Amino acid sequence: MKAIDVHCHIPTEEGNRPFAPFIAHTRRYYRMDESAGDMTPEDFARLLVGLDVKAFLVSVNALSTTGQPGTGNDHIADLVRRFPDAFLGGFACVDPWAGKAALQEVERAITGLGLCGVKFHTIMQQFAPNDRRLYPLWDLCQALEVPVQFHTGMTGVGLGMKGSGMHLKYGHPLALDDLAADFPNLTIIACHPSWPWQDEMLMVLLHKPNVFNELSGWSPKYFSPALQREIKGRLQDKFMFGSDFPALQHMRLFEDWEAGGYPPEVLDKIFLRNAQRILRIADA
Ligand SMILES: [Zn+2]
Repeated sequence: MKAIDVHCHIPTEEGNRPFAPFIAHTRRYYRMDESAGDMTPEDFARLLVGLDVKAFLVSVNALSTTGQPGTGNDHIADLVRRFPDAFLGGFACVDPWAGKAALQEVERAITGLGLCGVKFHTIMQQFAPNDRRLYPLWDLCQALEVPVQFHTGMTGVGLGMKGSGMHLKYGHPLALDDLAADFPNLTIIACHPSWPWQDEMLMVLLHKPNVFNELSGWSPKYFSPALQREIKGRLQDKFMFGSDFPALQHMRLFEDWEAGGYPPEVLDKIFLRNAQRILRIADA
């Protein structure tokens, strides 16, 4: 296996649905290949198998803040079940503002559908992870012993779009430090390189043993010198490879990672070993 992709979106019609009002602007920002959108599940799985990548699927449910229906967890679970060669697991998505229904859906998605964790988009869903009103959700995830992914840093969603409703402050990674302090047994995965709060993210990664960072959504070419130094140095066990596909394509990311001057043993950790350890993948 070439890589474990910890943050791979689902380019099917249902996977794209939560992003529908924003997708034209996002595609323009990432200069995305139009063909990467609206794939069939079969073509999507075949693409990953051809790349020798095994992915963890992510999506979002931001119904109460965007009015747009989320991706169904049944769809995510169905893909994982049907294409085990392509998908190692799926992160559930729930609307964090749905109260009891959110808790019930997390429980159903993990224990009923067999999904492996939960993914939240702080900016689309308009919450700070240290908001006490949402603590029952993190309590439940900790009790279920599943990792939780949180979007950090800027987002391409709503970029350049008037009235998108996005508040970038919710992407600040320092809120994850509170969460890590209050839920020491919760595995917290910060998504993306947290720009422009990269140094704050590195501080949290250094200080909190239960916080990790997947580096999707950015070419490694544009990583800050501080981040590059930490990847090669003392934080090399904390980072995981992620693509943010279809926003970014795997081949381009592999080329840029390999051109970054990282020692082979470090790339091995980023691409495979760290995810295997952090996400407790028996043998992949
Ligand atoms: Zn994403």
